[in-house]
Amino acid sequence: MSENRWCEHKPVWVGRIAVSACEDCGQVDWLSNEGPIDHAEAMAALFGNYDLAGTMEALGAPSSEVLVYMPPSARKRRHLDALPRRTWLKAGPRLWMSTDGEVLLLATTQRLMFENLTGA
Ligand SMILES: [Zn+2]
Repeated sequence: MSENRWCEHKPVWVGRIAVSACEDCGQVDWLSNEGPIDHAEAMAALFGNYDLAGTMEALGAPSSEVLVYMPPSARKRRHLDALPRRTWLKAGPRLWMSTDGEVLLLATTQRLMFENLTGA
């Protein structure tokens, strides 16, 4: 986990995944109880069974169009509580995420990743 001098990065455990998502600098670090974990694997563990509800235009997002994901159950919705609300977090290379506590928003500037995520 990297630190910078302006903010403190505290991991929140969700099952076997720890996510440290910083409201101040937007940095996200992923960890598993077995050691370092790839952001894609960590996100799949946390949000993999969320349903893609569609796309929307988002002002102030890192990309003009963002993907909207709905949790399949109240229990899975609580995974969003590991993230600070209404801020764009750097989930991985060219991938950002945000939440209002109800849905997960993903933004990417990489067209191929966008197509993978939308299943297009
Ligand atoms: Zn920070």
